[in-house]
Amino acid sequence: MCGIVGYAGTREAAPIILDGLSKLEYRGYDSAGIAVRDGANEIALEKTVGRLKNLIDITNNGASMRGNCGIGHTRWATHGAPSTVNAHPHISGNRTDEPRIAVAGVHNGIIENYAELRKKLERHGYAFYSDTDTEVAVKLVDYYYNKYGLGPIDAIAKTMVRMRGSYALELMFRDRPGEIWIARKDSPLIVGIGEGEHFAASDVPAILKYTRKVVYVGNLEFACLTANEAHFYDLNGDEIEKEISEITWDAEAAEKDGYEHFMMKEIMEQPKAVRDTLNSMLTENTVDLSKTGLTDELFREISQLHIVACGSAWHAGMTGRYVIESIAKLPVQAEIASEFRYRDPVLDKNTLVVLISQSGETADTLAALRLAKEKGLRTLAIVNVVGSSVAREADGVLYTLAGPEISVATTKAYSAQLAALYCLAVQAGFARGTIDRAAYEGYIAALRELPEKIGETLKNEGEVCRLATKLAGKRDAFFIGRGTDYPTCLEGALKLKEVAYLHSEAYAAGELKHGTISLIEEGTPVIGVLTGKALAEKTLGNMIETASRGASLTAVTTLPDSLRSGHTILEIDVPETDPHFAGSLAVIPLQLLAYYTGCAKGLDVDKPRNLAKSVTVE
Ligand code: GLU
Repeated sequence: MCGIVGYAGTREAAPIILDGLSKLEYRGYDSAGIAVRDGANEIALEKTVGRLKNLIDITNNGASMRGNCGIGHTRWATHGAPSTVNAHPHISGNRTDEPRIAVAGVHNGIIENYAELRKKLERHGYAFYSDTDTEVAVKLVDYYYNKYGLGPIDAIAKTMVRMRGSYALELMFRDRPGEIWIARKDSPLIVGIGEGEHFAASDVPAILKYTRKVVYVGNLEFACLTANEAHFYDLNGDEIEKEISEITWDAEAAEKDGYEHFMMKEIMEQPKAVRDTLNSMLTENTVDLSKTGLTDELFREISQLHIVACGSAWHAGMTGRYVIESIAKLPVQAEIASEFRYRDPVLDKNTLVVLISQSGETADTLAALRLAKEKGLRTLAIVNVVGSSVAREADGVLYTLAGPEISVATTKAYSAQLAALYCLAVQAGFARGTIDRAAYEGYIAALRELPEKIGETLKNEGEVCRLATKLAGKRDAFFIGRGTDYPTCLEGALKLKEVAYLHSEAYAAGELKHGTISLIEEGTPVIGVLTGKALAEKTLGNMIETASRGASLTAVTTLPDSLRSGHTILEIDVPETDPHFAGSLAVIPLQLLAYYTGCAKGLDVDKPRNLAKSVTVE
């Protein structure tokens, strides 16, 4: 779950690598390091614990490390504490202050059989200075390099065959100046093709300033990059041809653009993210999913839908469940990927499995996708990152067009996922004959209005800020709702945990009485989400039950009139829309609430502690 960047060219490598890492810092940020080489001189290394800023400071923004070829890493520790010695790059030598580094490497992922490989290497005279699995990988390459003397292609292929787990690796060899070698299994890795220079990185924003031409490194592929050449290989060491893709979004999309935080910028970009996503699927009065392979026949054939995802994407999936069942009368399960993959689920052959992931690299979601395929089921990915693993491996892809999302806590990608699921629901309903043309067109019209209504909701910040100031001093918060309001509550509570470190729980409002209400004390904040007329009264009843026990109430609602209760309720109004789609509006104040509460507590909302954006490990 870290970020890696590599460079081979004619410019100074270190500033380019550090700049690239700064675009990837959302992926991991507990330590950082860099290795650079000047021509055939020795490989020079710097690493340090803490944020990337520390590395930038000790290298004088890269100026102290001369050379045109290098690799860098920002870490999110999985094996070994965040410390300077465990920071990458790791080296093949037995001591960290080795004067001549034979092989240096950085790694994103987990080498699952590292303990066994470490023992093997120890038997061959290697001594380990760190606790990381990465040091094992680097030393294993060195071992095969020396044992067979057949060069990097052979050594890397042998290492890849021997290692289990996931990795995006970048390596430099002492006797191969000007070259960076990269390898990939299950962790993201791209190559940027420039004029007389090549880049490697975990994600596109790292290199977008320099080039738009990108090659997606496939699973179990590896490559050698020099200033003028890029050669790609399969596991047999045979050279392979790769397609070059052109990135269409611009570098500014991955910049803060005057906002203090990416999170706020991305919250504000939601009308556009939803509009672009809807526009990619809506024609004048139809939903067109032909690009995704979802035909009307398929919708009629399938007997159930299984939505599998993690974190916020799972909340989007749960909302999708309510909407699809209601509109298309199709049974839907929404399940956490890490459970699905080990549960031995019973699925009939007419199940469509829908995987949702912003990055398309979420390890558990990817494993769930592979399991579904193994079972011979049809799969559809709802993914934001073009060319990502989930997108490539699923039978069909429905891309959300949220643009790059940098803040660790998702906002605009979540909203775009909802939009995609709504389109799926409406088309499935029409194809299956559960809604007539008038209803179909009515839903489409309501969807078209959503981006503007999201924009309107964003303007309504006053009450949210007031509540955030109060929440900043609280220990707990509870969110309650029914129907689609329930997953909205789950998302609101998660946001508050993520960026404001506030213990918050979301409950289906009717569930509160079955235990949790005992936690309500004088002044405990209870936030009710009330969007659908049918259930608003019931949720309000549950809120009042908590108020009778001292809770202080807030209502996020499309139905201000339904709040007459004789109790003091802070009211956050959101515009009315078709109740199926109200989650897209009600979530907005909850995102803002988490943002402002985090800011009020002086936290780094873009990079919350212990988290990383794309969870590429189990
Ligand atoms: N497993 C490696 C470590 O703990 C890499 C983690 C990462 O992807 O940042 O150092």
